[in-house]
Amino acid sequence: MSDEMSGSSAPAVIELAEVTKRYSSAGQPAVDRVSLRVAAGEAVAVMGPSGSGKSTLLNLIAGLDRPSTGTVAVAGQRVDRLSETGVARFRRRQVGMIFQFFNLLDDLTVADNVLLPAQLAGLSRRRARERAGELLSTLRIDKLKDAYPARLSGGQRQRVAIARALVNRPSVLLADEPTGALDTTTGDEIGELLASLNASGQTLVLVTHNPDLATAYARRIIQISDGRITSDTLAPIAGGARADGVRAAGAHAAGGRAAGAHAAGGQGVGGASTAVWQ
Ligand code: ADP
Repeated sequence: MSDEMSGSSAPAVIELAEVTKRYSSAGQPAVDRVSLRVAAGEAVAVMGPSGSGKSTLLNLIAGLDRPSTGTVAVAGQRVDRLSETGVARFRRRQVGMIFQFFNLLDDLTVADNVLLPAQLAGLSRRRARERAGELLSTLRIDKLKDAYPARLSGGQRQRVAIARALVNRPSVLLADEPTGALDTTTGDEIGELLASLNASGQTLVLVTHNPDLATAYARRIIQISDGRITSDTLAPIAGGARADGVRAAGAHAAGGRAAGAHAAGGQGVGGASTAVWQ
């Protein structure tokens, strides 16, 4: 796909070419001939009705599912070609995921939930602890490090899930309805955190039903219907330091936007330092 469509001339972090995913030979494919390029540093919201293929698309990018036809490349790796071991390594190193219902391990403390993927990726316990400690403190949940997830609020659990997703510095952060189980205020806080992460350079793909979340925190909005991309547009951000009123899908506006996103790096939404995200 061209740079013009992706909205940036930065290198592609995600590249799907003519991807189709069929769960059965009969009927409509869940994802149908999708081509998509997401550049480094982009924030993309994927929207569409229930059953339109949003989660399947995310799972294909994450290596949780394999395409029936077409190619999926993430951070320069052909995910569709990896062996089972290769996919497991790819997912640990390159992909961070957050979900509507957090998917934390209830038998582990907050700190251990965050440490686990770092240790699985081969980081020493000391380095993993350092990294987890930084993230927990930036996310303002360091006081909860010895607590178990069941005792936390939804917002606190999602912060733990974000820390866990970031501990290995993934190339892409994939979020599947991350505010779906939260009240509006808490959902907004999580949205701000995701925007802050993106402002520091983290590539983000966000699946949501919520148009307010999509337009507030992602500049590029992809609509999907019956497994096909029906629109792919750049929209202004409603509020926040990155709003610049541009509404265009053209290459020039997109180039300006990409530069703006990088300029916003280092200073998170709400003034929090985002250095730790890097
Ligand atoms: P969305 O996330 O937009 O709600 P999904 O990607 O979950 O949509 O689903 C797209 C289509 O694929 C739906 O028709 C759904 O029933 C089907 N589907 C999703 N996952 C599976 C699966 N593991 N097995 C069979 N069909 C599936």
